[in-house]
Amino acid sequence: MPHHSAPFAKTADDAHTARRTRRSAAHADGAFTADLLGAFQTIRDGISLFGADGRLIMANARFACLYGLEPTLLTPGTSFDAILTGMAGPGEFKAVHDISQKVRQRAAKSTAAESYVLASTKGRVVQVTDHPLTAGGWLTVHSEICVAEACEPSVPTSSHDPLTGLLGRDVFRIVLDRSARQCTVPTAQCKVVSQFALVSVSLDTLGSINDVHGSGTGDAIMVAAAGRITEMFGDGTATARVDANEFAILVWLGSEPEHALARIDRLAKVLATAYSAAGMELAGAFSIGIALAPMHGTDAETLQRRAEIARRSARAARRTQPQFFNALLEEQAAQRRTMERDLRQAVADKAFGLVFQPIVDLRTGAISSAEALFRWTHPELGPVRPDVAIAIAEETGLIQQVGEFVLEAACRAARQWPQSVSVCVNVSATQLGNPDFVNTVLGVLARTGVAPNRLMLEVTETVLLENQNCGTVMESLSAAGVRFALDDFGTGYASMHYLIAFEFDQIKIDRSFVRDLPNRSDCQAIIQAVVGMGRALGKEVVVEGVETEEERRALSGLGTLLAQGFLFAPGLPGDGVGSFARLTHAVRDAKWRLDADRSAVAQAS
Ligand code: C2E
Ligand code: CA
Ligand code: CA
Repeated sequence: MPHHSAPFAKTADDAHTARRTRRSAAHADGAFTADLLGAFQTIRDGISLFGADGRLIMANARFACLYGLEPTLLTPGTSFDAILTGMAGPGEFKAVHDISQKVRQRAAKSTAAESYVLASTKGRVVQVTDHPLTAGGWLTVHSEICVAEACEPSVPTSSHDPLTGLLGRDVFRIVLDRSARQCTVPTAQCKVVSQFALVSVSLDTLGSINDVHGSGTGDAIMVAAAGRITEMFGDGTATARVDANEFAILVWLGSEPEHALARIDRLAKVLATAYSAAGMELAGAFSIGIALAPMHGTDAETLQRRAEIARRSARAARRTQPQFFNALLEEQAAQRRTMERDLRQAVADKAFGLVFQPIVDLRTGAISSAEALFRWTHPELGPVRPDVAIAIAEETGLIQQVGEFVLEAACRAARQWPQSVSVCVNVSATQLGNPDFVNTVLGVLARTGVAPNRLMLEVTETVLLENQNCGTVMESLSAAGVRFALDDFGTGYASMHYLIAFEFDQIKIDRSFVRDLPNRSDCQAIIQAVVGMGRALGKEVVVEGVETEEERRALSGLGTLLAQGFLFAPGLPGDGVGSFARLTHAVRDAKWRLDADRSAVAQAS
């Protein structure tokens, strides 16, 4: 409420004028208040206006009706505390007290507008937005988002997610929409910023947890995660379960955005801590994306889309920390959508190719196997990196078809090769986690007539990490004679653990250990140790990414090794491998061995 200070009276005349001015100001104030209250009564939302002293200036009837307040509480001058007690009433709105503390703290600082959500035990949801006033005090708008029994078709009937007790998707969407419209950017007239972060959280491993441990365990982890979110943000923050494995949180940034953002960072750590469920300690892989309002959007749809783009990018990069939205991510997402659409078409047309990269025995120069590498050339974008294409196939569920195509094409090519040459095929998490994969592989082997022990499936540590029932699938296939390689060995966290826990026939040391090998005694020692371990455990060892003659020579002193890399050959067409393999000893291979020996002689002399 504006306060009019009395004009300074210099003369009797002045004093008279001052009195008149005061009277008319008081009269104007009274009329103004009456007008304002009249206007308040016509508004559908509940409105309450408090002065700097924390006492009610005015409130409309809708406000009283929303909380079932006694009409006497609406008398101007009633204290905030008395009204709060009335609002909490018989305990229907539990969070009132918590929220009132926040309102009070902010009112004292007079910063930006913020919203809270009050949920009643009877299923009503009220969004409370309070606007601090420059002159002190605050104006609060109370909007009913969801009533106990929907009386309007536009209002969702179920306010809460029955499993977690968080808000449901529809109610959250309304809260988000209203909040987005209420955001402000600073202007010359108004320096106050009201901004919030929309946080999108997903439990990426829910599907595999359900598959392996049953949906009861998956549910228990979702409930526990919801509990951790509520604990971190407290009552009043709009937190929702918006999909089977997705949460959304609306965090007002207030006058100290860095504190709010630090809390979101902490949430990432809290969610990543193990969960006790079904008598076990289970980890959950969460991804978190953030879109800021109004910076990244001023409507619910844009904000949701952008928070999800950020979250998917976090997931793709296997980031556990929150990822903020940025324009580049949106561009990549658009490109990805185009690729998704066209990959679907390419699957229908089987418009892919494979190349095969030989793996060579360093002692004899013979080709022991060749790795099938997926190739897809996008009609407009050109060649797409295979790991990118495979990731899209995984996300869109096309991986089963793509994977089967690769297996079948690889085995068909291998049929043309000498029996001594095996074929290596990369398999992704989704493939290996699917119990049907056993039949797919056995079916392809039967159709193509390739002996099971000529097929080597390459598995990375992340594949094993993401799917908890890989072990059973691997066991069944191993029993049928199919072999397995642990790919990119040394790049993950627990390579040794996986080597022991699963039956691998081959270890493929990642190419990062080969770079600059002649000058890296540490990498040489690691490779030597892995070779020794391979020998002791009866596993073959392959070194990937051998590019130079110097690297080959450094490796040849380190024990019995297989090697793969551009030095020997890049990916070749399938028939190329056949001829390459046949000619190994005769021409091509003899050539690099001859060249190598010559350079060794030249160096020695
Ligand atoms: P990867 O399984 O580690 O495959 C080896 C990658 O290293 C291939 O890249 C190969 O071209 C590259 N490479 C081979 N020799 C050298 C070398 O001497 N120097 C360097 N710098 N690189 C070398 P590519 O073909 O781009 O494949 C990348 C990744 O895509 C593969 O890594 C694999 O994870 C994935 N991928 C490829 N094809 C398939 C597939 O059919 N299924 C699945 N699930 N993943 C695939
Ligand atoms: Ca591989
Ligand atoms: Ca590899």
